[in-house]
This record gives sequence, structure tokens and C-alpha cells, in this order.
Amino acid sequence: MSILVVGSVAFDSIQTPHGTVDRCLGGAATHFALAASFFTKVRVIGVVGEDFTAQHEAVFRARGIDTEGIEHSAGNSFHWTGEYRENLSEAHTLRTDLNVFERFQPKIPASYRDSDFLFLANIDPALQQQVRQQMPRVRLVCGDTMNYWITGHRENLQAVMKGLDVLLINDGEAKLLGDDANLVRAAGRIMEMGPKTLIVKHGEYGATAFFGDHSFPSGVHNRFFRAPAMPLAEVVDPTGAGDSFAGGFFGHLASQPEITPAQFKRAMFYGGVMGSFAVERFGTERIQALTREEIDQRFASFQELSHLDAE
Ligand code: AMP
Repeated sequence: MSILVVGSVAFDSIQTPHGTVDRCLGGAATHFALAASFFTKVRVIGVVGEDFTAQHEAVFRARGIDTEGIEHSAGNSFHWTGEYRENLSEAHTLRTDLNVFERFQPKIPASYRDSDFLFLANIDPALQQQVRQQMPRVRLVCGDTMNYWITGHRENLQAVMKGLDVLLINDGEAKLLGDDANLVRAAGRIMEMGPKTLIVKHGEYGATAFFGDHSFPSGVHNRFFRAPAMPLAEVVDPTGAGDSFAGGFFGHLASQPEITPAQFKRAMFYGGVMGSFAVERFGTERIQALTREEIDQRFASFQELSHLDAE
């Protein structure tokens, strides 16, 4: 099974209490694709500028990611400048330079058309929608977004949400989108906007799934599921944690013959595993160096950490 992802391929300039990096490879689609590549085949749709070199592309290729859908355009790549202060769960955006994304019209290569899974990573919801409409027959569509689009592009975002099986956002975004400081009530309002299932990420505290009547063909027994996060003594750079969570989550789902509630829950654990690795170093560094053995080991630790024996 292959996943098609559309989203930002970017350069990030990041400041955290651990230090500063200037223009490292980043972007929502990049972090997502690298994480998902440990589970299944990944194809990327995005746009980059002249500052994106063969060396940057090699980072994708080294993980077997198909880059045919990354368009090269005149100008500079998307550039995000952000800072994390004491509270590492909260990114402060200092600058967003859309650059080549401003004029981007996503085109889907013929070889991508048979993708079964579609991930609409964080990018202008108008672009997410263009890709969604060109892929009417996918089996499962999952999407992400952020404050920037929730506050400034609400109408376009609502159109995207109507076509989503799963919406994956963090808790601050969920409260903003659902317009309620109570997460359960906010989740209820968000699910009325379209997504069949909502996953809310809580940064260092894990993630919660909110299931609805249409989450699974067999129906649901529970309305909520909470997956843990790994308690870490050191978080170097939280950038990309959310997208790496999404990559682990969606990558695992795409590798399964059937999407059952049990596999959905395992997928959330894999999401937590990938997110926990992503934050250990700046940018994509940790995930680039990761092995499948390390993923399996940490998955076992996650199980251990949240397991309760029957009496
Ligand atoms: P996260 O996984 O939520 O930490 O997302 C991090 C990535 O989102 C960074 O690598 C940024 O390049 C990217 N990003 C930040 N702002 C935006 C935006 N407005 N649109 C698309 N991508 C963005």
C-alpha cells in the first residue's frame, strides 16, 4: 500500500533552549514522509525552490521515498522560523515565508494515482482540497492543520474537513477550531464538521482518539482511546514531532490489510514512538539515523509503560 502526502517541504530556522539551527531541512510533508517510510511506500507532492539541492533530495531517496511529485520552481523554498521557550509544547512562529508555495498548483503524477492512502499534511487548505479532489477513490484520508490556517482560512479548512476520515491536530488547535476550552466538547463540535475520527495530540502527554459512529464499519465500543508518550529527560527540538507522529500512525495503518479498532490503536502507539524519536535531535536528524529495531524496542517500552495486568 502506498501513501500519498501533500504538504510543506521547507527549510526551518529553529531556536530552542538547546540551541539554534539555521535553515535545516524540514516541512510537514518531509517529517511525515521520513517517519512513514519505515512502515510503507511514500510518495510526496510539494514544491521547492532553487535552494533545495540534490543533497536535500537524497535525504528522501535514502529512505526510499518517491520524490517525483516534488516540483522544482524558481525562487526560494518555504521557510519557517520558529522558537520554543520554556514550554516546549508550544511553538512560537516568528516568520512564515511561503515563497514558492504562494503560486503552487499541485499536480499529481500518473504513477501516484493508484495510492490508497492520502495524507493532507499541514499546508494551505485550498491546496489540500485540490489534491483531495484529484484523488476521489482513496481508501483513507487523514489531514492535519495548524492555528495559522484555522484563524485565517477557516472556510477553505471546513471544506477539507468534510472529506476527512481522520483529523489529526494538537490540543490547542482543537480548542481553537472547536471554539471551546473543554476538549471533549471541542472534539464533538469538530466531528460535526466532517471528520469521522479525531486524534488530538497532547505533546509530551500522548494523544487521544475521539471515535464517532462512522469511525469503523463495525461501529465503536468506546468513544475514546488514549495512547501514551515516552517520558524523555531531554527534548532537543520539538519541531516535526506532530508530523512524525502522523507518519508513524498513518504508516502503520497503511501497512495493514484491514483497519480494525485494534490496529488503529496500535497505529497511535507507533505515532507516539516516532514522535518521541523526532524530538531527540534538531530537525530530521534523529529520524534519518533511526533503525526499525529501535522502533520495535521503543514500541515494546510503550506497551510496558501503559500495560495493566488483569488481577
Ligand atoms: P510539527 O510537526 O507540528 O512540529 O510541524 C513542523 C513543521 O511544520 C516544520 O518543519 C515547518 O516547516 C512546518 N510549518 C510551519 N508552519 C507552517 C505552515 N504555515 N504551513 C505549512 N507548514 C508549516
